[in-house]
Amino acid sequence: MGQKSAVDVGRLIPEGVRAYPESVRKVKGTWLALVKTEQGKFIFLSRNLKNFSELQEVSKGYLAPLSPANAAALMDLCPELRPRRLPAGVSFGFGDRIGGATPGHLRALAGADVFPVLAQQSVRELTRTGRNFQEVLATAVFGALQEGYGGGFGADADHLKTVDQAREAARAGYTMFTCDPSQELVSPARLPEEELEQRYHALPERERWEKEYLGKNFQIKGLGRLRFSLQELVQVAVKFSRAIELACEMYAALKELLPQGFDFELSLDEAEAPTTPAEHYFVVSELAKRDVVLTGLAPRFGGVLEKAVDYRGSLEVFRRDLRAHVALANVLGPYRISLHSGSDKFSLYPVLAREGGGRWHVKTAGTSYLVALGVVAEKDPQLLREIWAQALKSFATDRESYHLAPDLSRLPSPQELPEQDLPSLLTQDDPRQVLHVTFGSVLRGELGDRLRQLLADHEEDYYRALAEHLGRHLVALGVKKDG
Ligand SMILES: [Zn+2]
Repeated sequence: MGQKSAVDVGRLIPEGVRAYPESVRKVKGTWLALVKTEQGKFIFLSRNLKNFSELQEVSKGYLAPLSPANAAALMDLCPELRPRRLPAGVSFGFGDRIGGATPGHLRALAGADVFPVLAQQSVRELTRTGRNFQEVLATAVFGALQEGYGGGFGADADHLKTVDQAREAARAGYTMFTCDPSQELVSPARLPEEELEQRYHALPERERWEKEYLGKNFQIKGLGRLRFSLQELVQVAVKFSRAIELACEMYAALKELLPQGFDFELSLDEAEAPTTPAEHYFVVSELAKRDVVLTGLAPRFGGVLEKAVDYRGSLEVFRRDLRAHVALANVLGPYRISLHSGSDKFSLYPVLAREGGGRWHVKTAGTSYLVALGVVAEKDPQLLREIWAQALKSFATDRESYHLAPDLSRLPSPQELPEQDLPSLLTQDDPRQVLHVTFGSVLRGELGDRLRQLLADHEEDYYRALAEHLGRHLVALGVKKDG
């Protein structure tokens, strides 16, 4: 926490500048604070520190812009603001597509017993919002400073599809890397029998695999006996061999850049079919043989996990899948089972809390954007109408690669929607999903500037709404007390 009680902030900060009280601190003889002026937010420094760049001299010190370079300088000065590895236990990812939600995320976290990942964006999200890894991390770091938060957090470069993307994130200071090999997966069900055979016979490790997997009983505590028939081995080997290669290459590249260690998650959640126990066992065993140590695995679960709406499917199926994956993760790791598209899955949280073995990770991303739109609905309904019109226009292209299926016939037209009904766009599943995936088209344009300005003007309302919504997630997950 900051040292606001120790000093009279007014004496330090120039007139016309408002300091966030929790951010005020003295580090190595320099007073430092996150401040807001008419030009926006800055770091205030009472002295000129050479690591900071583009300083602007003011009456009692200097203002440094909130750039990635200054975030790096700040992390050097205040190591508690540097992302770190996940400790044992449970963790929660707070994705923030707009940038600036971190103070609200930290308020949701208050009193919760879960380690936060405050910087979390996928390559897909970065492409759509025109941001980069450094900017996302910098925004989280400044948010932590603003709130006086020093409890530690992770930075997750999510859904990395190439080794180069992983290297870029490592250089940007990330600590957690989520490898998504979905593009490398081969679907055996789509291959003619003959081609499946050919592909299998072309795999160089085929003989070793047959020796190691066929005719064996793998006894998994909490799951039972796992056996591979030749047919099953052929299918998992063909399906995953290239994915395993990619994960190994990415891991090796990261190890070179980060010899002191990092968190590595494998995400299979965007695969076509639910991850079976045999697939889980085969993939992780093969990674382990090549010294890849997992922090987490995100299986594709049965049932329907779409963005921004609750789970649609049998809770029994989810419970059964989860138990199997947790049992495997305990035997092969231990590592966390990670639930992606994890926002608003209120029916699943109690199951995860009970069956997750005290070692789970949940990722949320788009839900903070929807919370922001809730603030828009309240403060400037006309802007929400324009955002809705833009969302409908770009939905057809923006939905690509996202897993969702809204009923398009149920989407209201922007012109005909009465003002008092605009907030219902955020509470009905179909419009909610359309808004959820069209964030890029909205944020990159002029609407994005107006949205960011509105949130800056009403930041306390935004933080309160985030704290309330994400706080409910944490309560349902059993890591925070109600009320
Ligand atoms: Zn995912």
